[in-house]
Amino acid sequence: MGDVKEAIVLVDLIGGFFEPGCPLYCGDEVKSIVPNVVSLLISKPEATRIFVCDSHRVDDPEFKMFPPHCVEGTSESRILPQFERLPGLIIKKRTFDVFYGNELSEIMQELSPDRVYVVGVCTDICVLYAVAGLRVRGYDVIVPKNCVGSFDKDSHEWAMNHFVKVLGARVE
Ligand SMILES: [Zn+2]
Repeated sequence: MGDVKEAIVLVDLIGGFFEPGCPLYCGDEVKSIVPNVVSLLISKPEATRIFVCDSHRVDDPEFKMFPPHCVEGTSESRILPQFERLPGLIIKKRTFDVFYGNELSEIMQELSPDRVYVVGVCTDICVLYAVAGLRVRGYDVIVPKNCVGSFDKDSHEWAMNHFVKVLGARVE
């Protein structure tokens, strides 16, 4: 067990998705994943933590579809206080594809973990593209059920199935 190199990719655990009143607040139910993520991190102190966070510019194309959110430098783009003091890498993203336009791919290559846990929000959007991107690159991926969520329950369920049936990830 000790030889297994693990990484945890933490997707969008930032104010804009978890603070009531923000335009893309995911809701009180989704907020309940936070203590579960904390427990996962405590149970895996050796795992490399990689926070992938929405950090938009004011004119990002995404704002044609979604209300402006998580603009770089605002409190919406800040990591939740439960995680902000934890050592970990912080990768910024400007689209729902967590690998697009940043160094995540190279970082994963360098780490070359045996197993990658993916947690955070939203299951059917950025978490989906994280799982897909990791699987495409050949990593063994685990999605802990109680550590992911979406404001859209049906899409959440769809994505959880898709992880297993199409992407070959494990849901635990
Ligand atoms: Zn965004």
